[in-house]
Amino acid sequence: MKASQATEYFFRKAADRLELTDRMRRLLLTPRREVTVQVAFETDSGEVETLLGYRVQHDNSRGPMKGGLRYHPEVDIDEVRSLASLMTWKTAVVNLPYGGAKGGVAVDPRRLSRKELERLTRAFVDGIHDVIGPDTDIPAPDMGTSHEVMAWIRNQWEKYHGFNPAVITGKPVEEYGAKGREEATGRGVGLLCVKAIKRLGMRPQDCRTAIQGFGNVGSHAAKFLAESEFPVVAVSDISGCYYNPKGLDMPQVLRHALQNRTLEGLPCGEKLAGEQLLTLDCDLLIPAALGGVIHEGNMDKIKAKLIVEAANGPTLPSADEYLSDQGVTILPDILVNAGGVTVSYFEWVQNRQHYRWSLDRVRQELDRTLSDAFESVWQQSQDKQIDLRTAAFTLAIERVKRATELHGLTH
Ligand code: NAD
Repeated sequence: MKASQATEYFFRKAADRLELTDRMRRLLLTPRREVTVQVAFETDSGEVETLLGYRVQHDNSRGPMKGGLRYHPEVDIDEVRSLASLMTWKTAVVNLPYGGAKGGVAVDPRRLSRKELERLTRAFVDGIHDVIGPDTDIPAPDMGTSHEVMAWIRNQWEKYHGFNPAVITGKPVEEYGAKGREEATGRGVGLLCVKAIKRLGMRPQDCRTAIQGFGNVGSHAAKFLAESEFPVVAVSDISGCYYNPKGLDMPQVLRHALQNRTLEGLPCGEKLAGEQLLTLDCDLLIPAALGGVIHEGNMDKIKAKLIVEAANGPTLPSADEYLSDQGVTILPDILVNAGGVTVSYFEWVQNRQHYRWSLDRVRQELDRTLSDAFESVWQQSQDKQIDLRTAAFTLAIERVKRATELHGLTH
């Protein structure tokens, strides 16, 4: 099953719970606008390369649409459509005044020079500049795009529309970006782990933690958790899994990852095959790499009592049902990794106020926003006796449905 089918499955499960009519389901699932554009640019050798770029604007009933831009060879309209709808539910669950969108270009950015990447990006903006804007649709970075790409997008868009850095978020800090954006998703993951274990009556010191993926999200989550006294017993990246049942020396792991940009050669911990991380003896499992990693083939070997989904779509529906039946608590992605879009929202607010927040203020507001969302999801799950994912989806769908009804569209 593809990640897009999984999103739709979870939407339908929540929609059944809410007894949504077929008409309302169709209204909520159908994107407002889909744009496919030609992205033609000159390569360093003087050839013209022509690619396809996409922007899908899923829903704007709660505010301007928000979502990342991905540069990856597997980007296609189906994937972008599904990720756009996921953004609608994510912004709704944390109650940001935004809708959802997503975009991208089908390209492997690693095969391009920096200059080619810049020309490609500017050509893409030429194609979509009239459908994005600070009050309509605000893109951000995603896989394969960086702060630098965001700075080029802003510059190209402003050539058409004039100064307005709020058109895009995830910009470099010195170019109207927000302090704390880089750590935001991982920090949010850590914070929500602390909240969840408290509710489950567990203590950080007893919570042996395994983290799959040690990129932006995994490493910042690991840092936060180690500082909160969680024994992080295993971490992994593309090079393999590193395990110490007594807890890894996290400052050493972080130093190694920063210096080498990989965990390869880590001097502490036993080295295991990467996929072994998921089934290790631990209490808390944090998938923070790829989608679809918890599935029918490994679900019965998972020992963690709590799974906190930092990656998008790590648990496939069959495994989700099985693990929930086994009493495993799963904190869902649309809540867990919303820290990034939340600080993107703060960046947009600062740009519109022409004012800069301190890192302390960003952290305080992030912690408050995610804590409120966690409480609402937990309460919804208790009140309705449903799992946390269905609780998060029902909460999000109810909010979007209510906004749609208030606009009068359904009368
Ligand atoms: P990243 O590219 O910085 O890091 C990905 C990490 O996963 C790397 O350490 C890589 O080596 C590792 N990895 C890749 N394949 C692996 C495998 N087979 N086994 C183990 N590790 C593997 O990406 P990121 O920004 O940290 O994002 C991680 C996940 O979080 C993605 O699913 C992404 O969609 C999601 N996410 C990220 C953000 C954000 O703000 N960065 C926000 C929301 C969701």
